[in-house]
Amino acid sequence: MVSSYQQSICYIDPQSRNKTFDNLIVRFLLKKLLLYKRRITELIDIMSDKIERVKTLIIGSGPAGYTAAIYAARADLKPVMYTGMEPGGQLTTTTEVDNFPGYAEGVDGPTMMLELQQQAERFGTEVRIGMITAVEFSKEKGGIHKITADGEKQIEAETVIISTGATAKYLNIPSEQRLRGGGVSACAVCDGFFYKGQDVAIVGAGDTAAEEASYLANICNKVTMLVRKDQMRASKAMQHRVNSLKNIEIRYNTEVDEVLGEQVVEGLRMVNNQTGKKEDITITGLFIAIGHKPNTDIFKDQLDMDETGYLITKGKSTKTNLPGVFASGDAQDKEYRQAVTAAGTGCMAALDAERYLATIGSVEESVAGQYKL
Ligand SMILES: Cc1cc2nc3c(=O)[nH]c(=O)nc-3n(C[C@H](O)[C@H](O)[C@H](O)COP(=O)(O)OP(=O)(O)OC[C@H]3O[C@@H](n4cnc5c(N)ncnc54)[C@H](O)[C@@H]3O)c2cc1C
Repeated sequence: MVSSYQQSICYIDPQSRNKTFDNLIVRFLLKKLLLYKRRITELIDIMSDKIERVKTLIIGSGPAGYTAAIYAARADLKPVMYTGMEPGGQLTTTTEVDNFPGYAEGVDGPTMMLELQQQAERFGTEVRIGMITAVEFSKEKGGIHKITADGEKQIEAETVIISTGATAKYLNIPSEQRLRGGGVSACAVCDGFFYKGQDVAIVGAGDTAAEEASYLANICNKVTMLVRKDQMRASKAMQHRVNSLKNIEIRYNTEVDEVLGEQVVEGLRMVNNQTGKKEDITITGLFIAIGHKPNTDIFKDQLDMDETGYLITKGKSTKTNLPGVFASGDAQDKEYRQAVTAAGTGCMAALDAERYLATIGSVEESVAGQYKL
């Protein structure tokens, strides 16, 4: 005998059983939909152009960025480059580049950078005028890096090549700014040659300033070195080197009051910051060696960098501490800071990016840039 109670729990009317089953399916599907909601929204955003997916994003358009672009484009990584506020980079501020291989007669900076751009575009690099304003790098191998351009556009990148360079610091006095490129330079190794046998001055007291003063002393007739304090910051060894060179005169407690000359540098008015006494000297070139600031602020707290902000790369590679993120050029090089070394690391970054993409199965391994491609 089956009691009415037992009947009530055992017997389910077939219609309501179908309803329960349907409900379960609907709930299951809803759950699945919710689970994939984020992904679907992302896909819709990608399809509606709100989010763009790229294999290789290059940040910066100096020699490092363009060289990376040439190699990445030839490896079919379809690179997208954001130029930043200074399309072409630091070299666009100089009229003469004499030491980049391949230009027998020398070349002016803007022309050289335009040619690099055209070369990168020839292989399919998409060059965009714009700034990368935020990054959210993935910590996972094969993860997607989320990048914001110009404060609004969302980009998802499988690999990112950073080539944001460094900015030379200047004194920021009007006469110095007016004569930049007319005898005022922030790069002795780049421009010292143009002052062969002439009298020049250099401002700075650190290792770089000492190094550059020694470099200039080998080329120029006389180098006056202006040191703001009563001693140099440079290492003892570097100080010794500077002191041993007879054509370097060090002026302690001395600053630039004014750079003299209308179109080009003709002299320097120095001021002793202890006595206030001013003195004019005749020079044709003024070198500012008070440091550089790497353009890496937006990567803080995500990428390893040294105390001054230079990105740290692993061994001889361009790999940063995060998978799929590579650093090239002056942003990771406080030692050499030359166009040709920046270009060299740009090439390395593209090859590193391609190899990384191959390890995650995104592209087939190739010999990018080496021969055919
Ligand atoms: C006056 C002067 C003369 C020089 N002359 C010589 C020379 O004769 N020979 C030589 O070998 N070297 C020379 N140099 C040094 C040389 O210019 C640098 O070593 C070289 O340009 C570094 O290249 P890079 O690609 O690393 O960066 P840079 O050339 O500094 O380019 C950095 C790029 O990053 C972009 N950027 C920065 N932040 C962002 C962002 N958030 N989003 C997107 N883009 C961004 C900038 O707009 C720029 O395009 C000179 C430098 C100066 C200042």
